[in-house]
Amino acid sequence: MNIVVCIKQVPDTTQVKVDPQTGTLIRAGVPSILNPYDHFALETALALKEKTGAEVTVISMGPPQAKTVLRLALALGTDRGILLSDRAFAGSDTWATSYAIARAIKKIGKADLILCGMMAIDGDTAQTGPGIAQQLHLPQITFCEHVAVSGRKLTAKKLMDGGHEIVEAQLPALCTLVLPADYKPAFPSFPEIAAAQEKDLELWTAADVGADENLLGLKGSPTRVDRVYAPPQRARGTVHQGTAAELVEKLVCILKEENFIKC
Ligand SMILES: Cc1cc2nc3c(=O)[nH]c(=O)nc-3n(C[C@H](O)[C@H](O)[C@H](O)COP(=O)(O)OP(=O)(O)OC[C@H]3O[C@@H](n4cnc5c(N)ncnc54)[C@H](O)[C@@H]3O)c2cc1C
Repeated sequence: MNIVVCIKQVPDTTQVKVDPQTGTLIRAGVPSILNPYDHFALETALALKEKTGAEVTVISMGPPQAKTVLRLALALGTDRGILLSDRAFAGSDTWATSYAIARAIKKIGKADLILCGMMAIDGDTAQTGPGIAQQLHLPQITFCEHVAVSGRKLTAKKLMDGGHEIVEAQLPALCTLVLPADYKPAFPSFPEIAAAQEKDLELWTAADVGADENLLGLKGSPTRVDRVYAPPQRARGTVHQGTAAELVEKLVCILKEENFIKC
């Protein structure tokens, strides 16, 4: 079985600040990390590799710095790492990104299972995984917490509002992964990191994956960003003090005033 995991390098959003003048993210000096959802997708693939002997390939589309997350994946036990990097990709929206990654997966050849994170913590759209499935005409199961494979049958535990659903599909298929509540990411040891530095990373351009440049970058992106702005700050709440009975009475008055309850 061949598993492809799509991973994205993202700024560590706990450390990103917004420029008050322009409303854009200040990325300078902000450390980059492997998108946490992709970290879990990668560990899911490596667990399947343990069980089934699958070959695991990771792909990332991004600038040369994205090699760092591919090296992390290699250190964790991935067999093959591919960086899609080309000026032609710059300015791609989720549609064009999905197209480029789908072209790369086609070039890899037989991909039985494609795993993506549910979303990237910087872009937040959750569109790329479904976009890749659409481009490759594959069934997709989104919001998976657990994925198992038996022969050609894929079984996924899918997160729903207020519960779970068990969904089955035939391979080949694509799943997007959510983060289980108790998830703690695994990190490689120093010798594993050092060994990964010696492994080859493949660098593919738009021409290498046979992508039509009219479908990439800003030219190939139907999305237009009209304005980027920080949401208006909320007014601070009022603090009420008193005994429990007084506070309940006060709360009921407020709810009546705001027409949330009628008596
Ligand atoms: C008009 C426009 C121009 C843009 N220009 C640029 C630009 O110049 N440079 C730039 O970096 N971004 C640019 N972006 C943002 C870029 O389109 C998104 O970062 C990208 O499409 C992924 O979307 P997302 O971050 O919402 O990921 P999501 O759709 O939330 O990601 C879901 C999953 O898809 C996979 N995935 C997503 N992105 C990648 C990737 N790059 N490689 C591998 N797997 C991936 C991961 O598994 C991830 O967990 C632009 C966006 C727009 C709308």
